[in-house]
Parts: sequence; structure tokens; C-alpha cells
Amino acid sequence: MQYETVIGLEVHVHLKTKTKAFCGCSTEFGQDPNSQTCPVCLGLPGSLPVLNKRALELTIKTALALDCKVNNYLKFDRKNYYYPDLPKNYQISQYDMPISSNGFIILSSGKKIKIRRAHLEEDAGKLIHETDSSLVDYNRSGMPLLEIVSEPDINSPDEAYEYLTNLKLILQYIGVSDCDMEKGTLRCDANISLRKMGDKELGVKTELKNMNSFKAVKEALQFEINRQAEALNNGERIIQDTRLWDGQKEITVSMRSKEEAHDYRYFPEPDLVPFSIEQNFIDQIKKEIPELPQARASRFIKDLQLSEYDANVIIQDKALADYFEECAKLYKNAKNISNWLLGAVSSEINSRKASIQELKLKPEDLVGLIEEVDKATVSNLAAKEILTLMIDSGKSASAIISEKGLAQVSDEGELGRLADEAIKENSKSVEDYKAGKENALMFLVGQVMKKSKGKANPKVVGEILRGKLK
Ligand SMILES: [Zn+2]
Repeated sequence: MQYETVIGLEVHVHLKTKTKAFCGCSTEFGQDPNSQTCPVCLGLPGSLPVLNKRALELTIKTALALDCKVNNYLKFDRKNYYYPDLPKNYQISQYDMPISSNGFIILSSGKKIKIRRAHLEEDAGKLIHETDSSLVDYNRSGMPLLEIVSEPDINSPDEAYEYLTNLKLILQYIGVSDCDMEKGTLRCDANISLRKMGDKELGVKTELKNMNSFKAVKEALQFEINRQAEALNNGERIIQDTRLWDGQKEITVSMRSKEEAHDYRYFPEPDLVPFSIEQNFIDQIKKEIPELPQARASRFIKDLQLSEYDANVIIQDKALADYFEECAKLYKNAKNISNWLLGAVSSEINSRKASIQELKLKPEDLVGLIEEVDKATVSNLAAKEILTLMIDSGKSASAIISEKGLAQVSDEGELGRLADEAIKENSKSVEDYKAGKENALMFLVGQVMKKSKGKANPKVVGEILRGKLK
């Protein structure tokens, strides 16, 4: 049986605010358990929440970057459920009037994945399970959380992966979140169902949780597609449940049957009165949104003549893209800069496990090195070694070239003498070349290179040898 896969994604990101959503506690990661709490985020009787203005600004900024409609009326609701990490027994969230709705993200295929809503809520605390007990840390309780819900427009694990990658990149570009899945500042849940090809009605969905990377999301979805298809082929019913991804066994395991919205008894939060947001406030935030990744890639292709591939790789790292632009201001051939950044510089980044900023390689110094290659002062190969030395020492290319005597020898007198020696010592190759074997010339060039200890300019050597062997 052929099935169509239908996937919807729910992404939660921690907003980069200094304090929590409804109290003044710090949001700093990695502090002692329960050291960042107060009566509000511990849900003590009589305490009252106050909305963090910055959290609201970052929510609106995200909504605008995702092309959502921002609703200028803000209302919070209580989502009621009992769990040890939720001291109030309800979470402040938004139910029927989210701050924003109807956005989209475009995939490389041109397909538009609609965003149903993006709303602001608070996070719960964290449970730490030990062998025979469980501990609770309320530092995370009340952290501002943005929930971004897609429409079920995604039809494969690959599309889900691309949607998530694009979304994360946008969030990083606009600076609203670190989006670090390992620290839990970005989390993703996936709803997935199968239906017979051509069916209009959606199949029964399951919800997948506990994936700690985008790769894990893709794997969990693929597992679930296979599991559901097999069940449907055997005439079994799919049970609507919430399933945890077990990354080690690479399976999903049923955790509980899925709740419906009415199970949460949503009602308006009485401690936070609804209010309207002035259009002026939204317009101000709009001005803060920088050029977004896809627009940037298009500009690199159009204005700087980068290939689509290069442009799309460079924009994946905002800092690298910024660096590329700095270099492009100093040097005309952008394609050449991109070759260096995606080649030798990226290898240095990877081998040193550093970011482009941490390399401390100034854009003008990289451009200086590229210009030395253009002038044939050094070969491409030597330039790569010089790059390593530049990063180690912080010195410029020209300083290293003169210090280490790495400049190529292009002096025809000196090279002519070495060429004569090579011709004398390798009569067989000379004969071969004269008999039409082009490879033999390359061998002779190699001999001259060796004699010059790698400093000869191979292009000049080739010309000299050709001249002498005419
Ligand atoms: Zn607090």
C-alpha cells in the first residue's frame, strides 16, 4: 500500500532575555539547582506575574521574521495540568489568541511550509531522575519560551529537517535565541500520521518527543513512518499517543495516550490583564530585523557572482557570512574568497574546533594572503601552510613569507640554471618529451622544483623547459 506522510512540527525555543518571562530571576544556564527562583516562578500563594517586555519584543521580532501576522491584542491563558516540575499546576501560555499566526518558511524546492502560530509561554522546571529518587530544579521554571507550530504541510523526514534548519538559522540571524539543542534552548516535537495516497482525511497521528538533534528528528520520523505503515498494512489501528525517541535503540516507545486541548481546561489568566499593543511598537521592532539568510544568499549570488551552492553554505554560519562580506569589500574576486573560506579556512576551523572569530584571522590578512598567490609570490600549496602559520602567530602573510624565505623563485636566470641541470641528468625524460610525451615535461618540472626546495614557480619552470627543449 502507498501512503502519504503528513508531518507537523512544534518547536520550542528559549528567548534570549536576561530575566524570566514573568519575574526578575536570572535565565543564566548552568547555575546551581534552584538558585534562580522566587515566589513567582515557584508558584507561591499571593505572588503575581509581570510580563517581561523584552520577551514580548523578541516574540514579535520572530513573528515578523517568519512572515506571521502579529495580532496587536495580547492575552494569556492558563494551561492546567499537574506535574512535579510545574509548581503552580498550570502553565501560563496562549490559547485562542496567540500573539501571531499565518507565517511560512520556504524550502529550497520552493515549497512553502505554513506556520500556524507562534506564541509566548513559560517553561516548566526540570526533573532529574536518579536510581531510586527524582530531583527537581526550578531554575528553568518561568523561562520565556516561544512555541512555533507549523501546519501539517511537511511530507517527508527530509523536508522536516530542512524546515528545522531554516527556522533555526532565521532565529539565530535575528538573535532571539541560541537554539542549542544540547542545552535544551531549542526543542522539537513532531506530529506524524500516514494516509492512503489520494485520501482527503488525515490519519491518526502520534506525537514524537525527546529528539535531541535535527538528525534524531529525521531518524525518529523515518522509524515512525515504517512502524505506522506496517501496522496499517496488517489492518491494525494506530493509537493516538505520545512516543519517546530512544536514540540508542533507534525506536520510538509509547509514553502516554495523547491529550486533547480540552483536557487542559484552558481559561484566561486572571493575573495578567489582556492589553493591546500599539502599531508603533511593532514597527520599531520591524526596523531591528536584519537581512535574513535566504535574502542574503540571493544577494551573494546576484551581486557577488557566487554559485548557489557556495552562497547557501556560507550563509549557514552568520559569522562566516559576515566575514566573507568584510573580505569582499577589500578584494574583487568573491568566488576566490569563498573558495578559501570553504576550503583551507574551514579546515582550520574544523581542526581547531574553533569559530571564524576564534581564529583571530583578520579579513585584511586573509585577503593579503590571497593577493600573494595572485602575484605568484607563493604557490597555492605553500599558501595553505602560510595560512596555518598566520593563525598560529597572528602575523601577516607577507611577514611570514619574508621571515621564512618562502617566496617563489621566478628569476629566469636562476631557474634556467636549474633547468639545465635537470635536462642533463634526465636524458630519458628529455627524449620522451621530444617524442611527444607531455608527462615527461611534468617530471622535469618536478625535478627543478626539488632542486629549488619547492620555491620555484612551477609555471615559469614549465615555460623555461619548453623553451630549452624546442
Ligand atoms: Zn522567579
